[in-house]
Amino acid sequence: MHPFEYRRAENPQAAVDAAAPATQAKFIAGGTNLVDLMKNGVEQPHRLVDINRLELSAIEQLPNGGLRLGALARNSDTANHPMVRQHYPLLSRAILAGASPQLRNMATNGGNLLQRTRCSYFMDTRFPQCNKRVPHSGCGALEGFNRSHAIFGTSEQCIATHPSDMCVALAALEAVIRVRGPKGEHNIPIADFHRVPGTTPQVETNLQPGELILSIDLPPSRYAQHSYYLKVRDRASYEFALVSVAAGLEIEDGTVRSARLVLGGVAHKPWRVQHAEQMLIGAKPSADIFARAGKVAVVGAKAYQHNQFKIPMAERAVAEALSRAAGAV
Ligand code: SF4
Repeated sequence: MHPFEYRRAENPQAAVDAAAPATQAKFIAGGTNLVDLMKNGVEQPHRLVDINRLELSAIEQLPNGGLRLGALARNSDTANHPMVRQHYPLLSRAILAGASPQLRNMATNGGNLLQRTRCSYFMDTRFPQCNKRVPHSGCGALEGFNRSHAIFGTSEQCIATHPSDMCVALAALEAVIRVRGPKGEHNIPIADFHRVPGTTPQVETNLQPGELILSIDLPPSRYAQHSYYLKVRDRASYEFALVSVAAGLEIEDGTVRSARLVLGGVAHKPWRVQHAEQMLIGAKPSADIFARAGKVAVVGAKAYQHNQFKIPMAERAVAEALSRAAGAV
């Protein structure tokens, strides 16, 4: 591991000051991803700013009826919180589908947003080609083993996926990320938080250098009655998604009034499929309409040598998740 300086911050502003862009610092909380990446040399921060003492772990109701999830609330505490379970069961289910109980006990909500891809060529520094790890070095996965890689939003520079389950549910719930940085506080809608790789796959979010995540704010719940998080993976636990689906339906008088549909495991960010959401509005929930939504959801998908199976898998997963959200299964 490369040497680094350690600082412990006592309040958010001190943390932001300690991580000023010139310091090449990283914030550390649970450390469940960052420490691994530091051990294998992928991440080499000059300074670690420990933010575990900041008072950012509360989960509390917002005046508008929404819910604020502290950035430092642990994933387990978030998933099992009574208000999350009652009003945002989609989020609870997605978090509990990720990692292991031990990891969820350490991992924080802010850290989950900033998880890095598990592309093998990125994680293992013995591979020389990875544009994300070493800009302009090439992409080992493009012509290599790309079974777990993306089918949406890829570029010639990178075809990696975002690994988080939590973020897929947050995208369906239209969460807002509250951050503080050298220029003060501002909000970033989850749809704008993560980026597609384009020509700069090393830049994964629109968080600016030195900015600290304070909370994840959820709008008032609309999908508590009809939502489902479906995760398809190679084994039943402790495995990343090949394909996942966060589905939410608002059903009134037997008709879909609004829908949210976001795919995970298929892109560099949670992949919302609004054209499939739109076709559901005004429809009566049925296996037929959900199957058609699955077909629409994969329009535009582009597979590589080893991940062609993901397109029909995503199509069927969408139909299944919608059926379960509607209570038809
Ligand atoms: Fe690196 Fe992205 Fe290519 Fe993986 S897919 S090797 S992370 S550039």
